[in-house]
Amino acid sequence: MAEARRIDGKAAAARIIENVTAETAALTAKTGTVPGLAVVIVGEDPASQVYVGSKAKTATACGFKSIKHELPAETSEATLLKVVRDLNEDAEVHGILVQLPLPEHVDEAKVIQTIDPDKDVDGFHLINVGRLSTGDTAAAFVPCTPAGSMLLIREVLGDDLSGKNAVVVGRSNIVGKPMAQLLLAANATVTIAHSRTKDLPGVCRGADILVAAVGRPEMLTGDYVKDGAVVIDVGINRIEAPEKGLKEDGTPKTKLVGDVNYEEAARKAAAITPVPGGVGPMTIAMLMANTLRSACRSAGIEAPK
Ligand code: NDP
Repeated sequence: MAEARRIDGKAAAARIIENVTAETAALTAKTGTVPGLAVVIVGEDPASQVYVGSKAKTATACGFKSIKHELPAETSEATLLKVVRDLNEDAEVHGILVQLPLPEHVDEAKVIQTIDPDKDVDGFHLINVGRLSTGDTAAAFVPCTPAGSMLLIREVLGDDLSGKNAVVVGRSNIVGKPMAQLLLAANATVTIAHSRTKDLPGVCRGADILVAAVGRPEMLTGDYVKDGAVVIDVGINRIEAPEKGLKEDGTPKTKLVGDVNYEEAARKAAAITPVPGGVGPMTIAMLMANTLRSACRSAGIEAPK
């Protein structure tokens, strides 16, 4: 087979951000509403700091008001809940995002369930989970990574996935399960696979659409891929890359890889997302789109598609 089409998530994300920026300018000119995105981070986990930094930067670039609450690692659950409740009441805030993971002494579920579902732009609140799982994708805030993955699938296959077999490897609440719900809502026939699945390669080879959300570097080799499949690699794994040489401290440099072995899968697939530059950039773009949608709702005007 010819080499697969490389699905360019970076370009798709840039188009979404461009639209969000234009729609934000229109919303603000028409109603005076400036979308507000509040990001709450507890502790100093370096990866979380990077994610939060780039979310805040993108929000500002879109014309949003970006609010950042940086709290020390020892912040009590009660204090954090108060921060969230205050943001719920703040009319200038349309989206609230609590960066996960939270320190162990804080009950993550309790914090998420305290966020006003109408400001839950991450889509983790049970109300939004319920809306999505009952097929009400119009009302739900959909978690950003699966929502972005779905847009990439649509770019290749269109809106209606009738007759397609989709396999999602991974059943987490933030990626695997909502991804499966979105595929189902688009009429695909969906299988959710996980660590207890028997003959995982065989199950994956039945997939016209294969979504990998496992967290294991390059686990899905060519043997998992059906000829002509569309492969979406959600995984982000940092591994050592001795071929790139050594860092100043003498340890090998590192690189990012997905859950799919790109080289092998690309020889069989019709289209495939790279890592980096595939699903990753879509996540932040969808967060911006969700925040704009929330601001439009609060201003009483129709949200852009
Ligand atoms: P979780 O660790 O929460 O879930 C991983 C899932 O993979 C579980 O359901 C687990 O099964 C399954 N799994 C693990 N090992 C195997 C195996 N050997 N065979 C089959 N299934 C297996 O991860 P997340 O869903 O949070 O994230 C998945 C990946 O996506 C990670 O690489 C993460 O970094 C990346 N990610 C990327 C984002 C982006 O912006 N692109 C955003 C969020 C995550 P079981 O339930 O049985 O244990």
